[in-house]
Amino acid sequence: MDCDVIVIGGGPAGLAFARGLASSSLAIVLVERQSLAALAEPADDGREIALTHRSADRLKRLGAWDHIDPTQVAPLSAARVLNGASPFALAFGPAEGCGGRLGQLVSNWRLRRALFAATEGQTSLNIRAGAGVTGLRRSDSGVEVELTDRTRLRARLLVAADSRFSETRARLGIAADICRLGKSMLVVPVEHQRPHDGVALEWFGHGQTIACLPLADPLRSSVVLTLPEDAIARLAMAEPALLAEELSRRSAARLGPLRPLSRPFVYPLATVWSRHFAAPRAALIGDAAVGMHPVTAHGFNLGLLGAATLATRVTAAARSNGDIGAATVLRGYETTHRLAAAPLFAATGAIVRLFTDDRPAARLARPALLRAASLAPVRAGVSRLLARH
Ligand SMILES: Cc1cc2nc3c(=O)[nH]c(=O)nc-3n(C[C@H](O)[C@H](O)[C@H](O)COP(=O)(O)OP(=O)(O)OC[C@H]3O[C@@H](n4cnc5c(N)ncnc54)[C@H](O)[C@@H]3O)c2cc1C
Repeated sequence: MDCDVIVIGGGPAGLAFARGLASSSLAIVLVERQSLAALAEPADDGREIALTHRSADRLKRLGAWDHIDPTQVAPLSAARVLNGASPFALAFGPAEGCGGRLGQLVSNWRLRRALFAATEGQTSLNIRAGAGVTGLRRSDSGVEVELTDRTRLRARLLVAADSRFSETRARLGIAADICRLGKSMLVVPVEHQRPHDGVALEWFGHGQTIACLPLADPLRSSVVLTLPEDAIARLAMAEPALLAEELSRRSAARLGPLRPLSRPFVYPLATVWSRHFAAPRAALIGDAAVGMHPVTAHGFNLGLLGAATLATRVTAAARSNGDIGAATVLRGYETTHRLAAAPLFAATGAIVRLFTDDRPAARLARPALLRAASLAPVRAGVSRLLARH
């Protein structure tokens, strides 16, 4: 074998997994389509990631947290969910012992940069940047991957972390339920007049969903607007003044008039649930395994959890001189991670269906459901579910 593990994809999940194997002495090759320069200094992609406390702890253990400027970590003190024109808000606050924070928001590019920086100096890791995969073969003892430069690499285990539209997943013959929602998200940082007080606002209006996520500056937020794809495409092309007017109107000026600080970023929405997270000699992690709808802000958190679950099992197998790509190791990961991901994936799907359905029955049911969700036991259940990831 040329190495022990081949990881395809150097996004947050792939880098976190590779870093999670640092204590194992396994030789890892990570294949990433983008250049090394793009990995080291990722471009801003507009995403602000709401990190749970567990995820922040995982990033600390991986040595990535120290590479994030603390002044750029925005504390999230509470979240409020609103429905249409109703003044009632479902509010979530921090659980006891969480330092008064529900979580924290950090830009995706900063997280990617920090995870890459954490892997620097990891001698067991060889990053093949600027390379793709052209072929994949498996045998009972291992995998062989052919790269775009015609290099062939053999390993005992292959890990796919190459996004929700994973080509590796398709090459492995793993089916996935992919749901293209016909909607897009427009994401843009804005300046506003009223301070956000560290509160994330999400409101489901009729025909639109709009969220305001607090940034480190009290007068800046990230606006996330979801509309049908053609409407978002038109808005993304609009002049800054028109975009400002439209966002202020659509947010009912809750934070005062909004002024965009950059061009918007657009993400067409698709959710993905892979039928299997493992196959002989291979495993899927991150969005390649589960592509969550961003509305509940859990894809990144789940990706870190899955990477940690697999890294722990692979490290344990290596320490006991076992086969790191054995079916028992991979099945153990698959079972554990499916159990963790399934409730969140299902709950997110149910929220999206209910709050984006503009038929009269759904509109009538929404206020009652929002009030029911505000009952203490339900909120405690949600907090417990979030605290697990
Ligand atoms: C607008 C938006 C907001 C979000 N907000 C949140 C949030 O608040 N909280 C949260 O937890 N999650 C959030 N998410 C989800 C989160 O961004 C993703 O779950 C996370 O980035 C997935 O990481 P990943 O490493 O699995 O995949 P990606 O980030 O997609 O990385 C995949 C990597 O693989 C590389 N690659 C792809 N194909 C190949 C190939 N064939 N060969 C080699 N390399 C390849 C790509 O270049 C890339 O570097 C949000 C997503 C969006 C779109």
